[in-house]
Amino acid sequence: MQRPANIPDLVQTRRAFLRDAGSDYAFGLDVDAFQQTISTEYPALHTTTYLDHAASTPPPRSTLTNFAEKVSNSLFSNPHSRSTSSSATTLAIERCRGRILNELFGLTDPAARAEWDVVFTSGATAALKLVGDAFPWQNARYAYLKESHTSLVGVRACAGEGDVSALGVDEMLQLPPCESSSTTQLFGYAAQCNATGSRLGLEYCRHLKMRHPHGFVLLDASAYVSTTVLDLASLPIDCAPDFIACSFYKIVGFPTGLGCLVVKRSAGAVLQRRGYFGGGTIDAISVSAPFWAEPRRSVVPGPLHERFEDGTLPFLDIIALDCALDTHKKLFKSQRHVSKHVSTLLKFATRELAALRHGNGRPVIKQHRAFGALGSDLEEPGPVIGFSVLDPESEYVGHVHVEQLATVNGLQIRTGGLCNTGVLASSFNLTNDNIREEYARGRSCWDDEEFGRHGHPLGMVRVSFAASTTIDDVLQLLSFMRRYFVVSAKVASLQTPQPAAAASLKGMMIYPIKSCGGQRLESWEVVNTGLIYDREWMLVDESSGKTLSQKQHPRMALIRPAISLEDRLLVVSAPGSVNLRLPLDAPEDSTLTANVCSDTVSVSFSNPHLGVDIDAWFSSFLGVPCSLRRLSGSQAQRHAHFERATAGGAPVPILLSNESPFLLISQSSVDQVNNWIHEASPAQETQSVHADCFRANFLLESAQGVPGPGGGPASLPLPPFAEDSVDLVRIGSETFQVLARCRRCLMVCIEQSTARRTKEPLSCLARNRKNARGKIEFGVHLMWREDLSPSVGARERPVLKVGDAVSFVSLAAEDGQDGLCDV
Ligand SMILES: *Cc1c(COP(=O)(O)O)cnc(C)c1O
Repeated sequence: MQRPANIPDLVQTRRAFLRDAGSDYAFGLDVDAFQQTISTEYPALHTTTYLDHAASTPPPRSTLTNFAEKVSNSLFSNPHSRSTSSSATTLAIERCRGRILNELFGLTDPAARAEWDVVFTSGATAALKLVGDAFPWQNARYAYLKESHTSLVGVRACAGEGDVSALGVDEMLQLPPCESSSTTQLFGYAAQCNATGSRLGLEYCRHLKMRHPHGFVLLDASAYVSTTVLDLASLPIDCAPDFIACSFYKIVGFPTGLGCLVVKRSAGAVLQRRGYFGGGTIDAISVSAPFWAEPRRSVVPGPLHERFEDGTLPFLDIIALDCALDTHKKLFKSQRHVSKHVSTLLKFATRELAALRHGNGRPVIKQHRAFGALGSDLEEPGPVIGFSVLDPESEYVGHVHVEQLATVNGLQIRTGGLCNTGVLASSFNLTNDNIREEYARGRSCWDDEEFGRHGHPLGMVRVSFAASTTIDDVLQLLSFMRRYFVVSAKVASLQTPQPAAAASLKGMMIYPIKSCGGQRLESWEVVNTGLIYDREWMLVDESSGKTLSQKQHPRMALIRPAISLEDRLLVVSAPGSVNLRLPLDAPEDSTLTANVCSDTVSVSFSNPHLGVDIDAWFSSFLGVPCSLRRLSGSQAQRHAHFERATAGGAPVPILLSNESPFLLISQSSVDQVNNWIHEASPAQETQSVHADCFRANFLLESAQGVPGPGGGPASLPLPPFAEDSVDLVRIGSETFQVLARCRRCLMVCIEQSTARRTKEPLSCLARNRKNARGKIEFGVHLMWREDLSPSVGARERPVLKVGDAVSFVSLAAEDGQDGLCDV
């Protein structure tokens, strides 16, 4: 059985849903039977809540088994031959074209189907591009809706400099009809917005065609047809779109890499083949000079697709589509049934999400829509919800934050710009200048930045449903939203002033190879770039040239580098591998540049000939071709990423660490996090997290049995998060300045001793340790203040030892008390 939503407070909600939804939900099946079908057909969904069907929907098992049966028992072969298997294949392909028009486009009547043709392509994007390439752009205009998927926007690049406009829904309708009959016009729009689910359907096309009877309409139907029928039989052929693009994996999951352009035959003649030709698209061709080629003749109502399908069709994929449509019908009856099923879920989810309130009464989400008033007037939306999460002050919560929490809680959702800049811009009032400015700052559609320079969000959250979605998936989403984003009352500030307490250095770590395991130290030297040898090496992905990170390769945690100062060696061990022993003082073989957190650094191969292939050692352990690099000449080429991080006006140098030379945490804070974890799920066997997962350099703890100030009673234990509110930390003889709190991501969810991914501590941190911008913070970044340390000017490097006494000072302390005091 699919994992039931184990959510006691939602049991009532579930019951009410089932009562109201009636037989529209679950295809008229009894709910348990439906649940059972989903469980059998989609084993991959047992352990996750998948809510990204608008990106792709998983295929049911029966499609794959039926396909395997079919192609192993019957011979299908290249349709260009005349053998029996080839003829059978051709027949199956032609039958499939008819099925598509019948089952996905509502053309049940063969006479109505004859007005249309199906051109197979590799997907919706390729279908849109086909129109862009073949449209006669001389004296033509292209107008498309601003809120379009980039695949539709891209057609403008084919239109050349000429007459292209990106318009709102009303503007496009009001465009003056073409004056001269020699001008052609192409209108592009999406039947359903991929980011918001808003629909214009076919009705908008009818409006366009009434005003522009000679204009051509290019419809991006990829999102729309995923869960409903685009009913071409519902309107007169003159009012229907001329070209319609879609991808099949969005409907039935498998095959991928197959889509089509549905073409109205009467409009087909306008598409002129230019550029490449080959395979089956030629009727006759000369061998050499004088060269001539005759494209495939297609006489209306002849087969138009022959002119556009170059080379051999992906015939087995088309057979797979046939199997997929069979399975779809068997499981879900029809696309009209799918439409009813998902719309019950959509209405319920929309209502419940909108009803979420913070303790102060303000809403928890803001839903985004597209296409203005028409986008809700013409048709009910599709099963997609595009939204932003709001905090109790109605400020946006970053989308990456939401996604990371969803990930550790087993939910799969989509966040970001969703390939639809128009929707992003209209939702957040972004101007072209804003977008250009973000790009100039190095932002791209794909990165993790949540807010732009002016505080605009740079992404939204999207959840989407399909035939295989159950009410329990939606309840999981609601429960997740309630747990993490609803703030019931104002959370008291955690920053309590620190009374007399005493601390000492409990542990000290370096991570010689960036993102690999740590080395526990007893005593170690400090320099301004950090503890010596901390993050001096890194692993570089050979194919992408990027630094490898534990986030993508958790097994890196099991690679344990250790510096041996006596032997002058870096010794690297990993389970099941012989130890690597690399001399610390090897000469550099050669240098090259690499990228670390968008800084370019020069790194060296120091691949001394030791009889072992170092890179092969790492590559085989991690299963990625990679190579070990060392920061060239041990010289700092990068700088700490904080404004405060200057020493005497010069920026503070760092090696390969992400942000700063030192990271400090305290055991009291780790203990507090574990308390939260156990409070949050007392019944389940919850595992405590270890301080290791925070990958700090310094771990503090309460000093035991230290007499209080003036020899009074023993001092208080170190309070959790004491490190947050201090400016200077003295460890042993050395003084460090706090630069900023450390922002945390999914990386804390990798258990360092086992390399397993866990849900905690991110989930609990997210509920308890978010700053005003919604960033999770834990621990603090430090720089060494040599000028405030007694070692200043000394020839020997200072050495810190586990057990050293630790004291804090807040510069903001009143009464000008700027001496260091015990906390
Ligand atoms: C998914 C989607 C596309 C792109 O489809 P591909 O399968 O990637 O070619 C274009 N437009 C919309 C509205 C979509 O939802």
